[in-house]
Amino acid sequence: MNILVLNCGSSSVKYQLINGDERKKLAGGVVDRIGMSGATLSNVRYDGDDIKITGEIVDHTVAIEYILAILLSRNHGVISDKSDIHAVGHRVVHGGETFSGSVLITAEVIKTLQDNIELAPLHNPHNLRGISACEANLPGTPQVGVFDTAFHQRMPKKAYLYGIPYALYSQYKIRRYGFHGTSHRYVADRAAEMLGRPLSELKLVTCHLGNGCSMAAVDKGISVDTTMGFTPLEGLLMGTRCGDMDPQIILYIMAKEGLTLNEAGTLLNKHSGLQGISGVSSDMREIIAEMNNNDRKAGYAFDVFTYRVKKYIGAYAAAMGGLDAVVFTGGIGENSAEVRKACCDNLGFLGIEVDDEKNSAKGKERNISKDDTRAAVLVIPTNEELVIALDTMDIVATMDQT
Ligand code: ADP
Repeated sequence: MNILVLNCGSSSVKYQLINGDERKKLAGGVVDRIGMSGATLSNVRYDGDDIKITGEIVDHTVAIEYILAILLSRNHGVISDKSDIHAVGHRVVHGGETFSGSVLITAEVIKTLQDNIELAPLHNPHNLRGISACEANLPGTPQVGVFDTAFHQRMPKKAYLYGIPYALYSQYKIRRYGFHGTSHRYVADRAAEMLGRPLSELKLVTCHLGNGCSMAAVDKGISVDTTMGFTPLEGLLMGTRCGDMDPQIILYIMAKEGLTLNEAGTLLNKHSGLQGISGVSSDMREIIAEMNNNDRKAGYAFDVFTYRVKKYIGAYAAAMGGLDAVVFTGGIGENSAEVRKACCDNLGFLGIEVDDEKNSAKGKERNISKDDTRAAVLVIPTNEELVIALDTMDIVATMDQT
């Protein structure tokens, strides 16, 4: 079964066509600058053939048209008819409290997603646009929503309630939701396979460190706590997001600098994090390069970033009452030996000891802990698209049986 996996943003659509039975990516790419001049589609086929097309891509419906045209094209395509796409799987950012698993998209689901727009104003509207663009281009093809929040929906109340009046939770659903759930779920499953033990026996701390960063405490396969909160702003230091801080600070800055609500939001989401502290970049590679050039503020940014990860490893080991493995994933987690080493430094008391040679070796999935340590340290490249494709395939298979 071929599944078109879509991740629709405000001005971009990332896509992959995956053969779910063989777990094989047939083609993938991105449409960028939707609605702007110089919009492009870049496509890479499984055999490395790549092509970039520029066009008038005015909205998401046209973006999907371009994607279908390239997937069907004689020279660069991989399918011969639209009906070779058996289902579409969408990454949907916010499922609110309604969705604790992936669902077939129906009129009712769309209505619920519309009701959740306030919870994820930056993401859910574009996901909805992608869904209607597929209805227009692939009428009758089943569509499935896979939610970033779903994996964290089994968190206990003590982990998701904030210390504000309970009425604000009841009325506005203000609580911790957590994000990156598809990635945390994928790496937790892979960790169990790598360790050769059932997930139901394991206490894992999963660290998704990319532009956005979050960690999860995964106890017996259930996310029991996670660092992102009501929005993706909470928790770890990120490329441009501040993560944890005293909430009073923002009120103080707003008063001092006369900021509007929007300006305050932009400060915390776009001008903080690695970028804000270093003044150098939001990109960890540049932070490390400048730190190695003795740039003091780049060094502070690196230290705050890695210290927070380490602090949460300890916190989550305490929350679960033990630790079998720490898993690193995401662009930084998968690629930066320096970050992994600093995050795990001095954690021998938790059974964590990184082997420098294994840590600096290149490779895909691997265990980088010293031999015979109590806890493993794993590097696992994430694959959210595969999870979306497999969930979609499962849901479509159940439809076929009914
Ligand atoms: P996104 O969250 O947008 O999916 P990624 O998971 O691709 O992003 O992560 C992007 C981050 O990964 C950037 O901060 C980038 O600097 C970092 N990164 C990629 N390669 C390396 C590397 N070799 N060393 C350190 N950081 C890296």
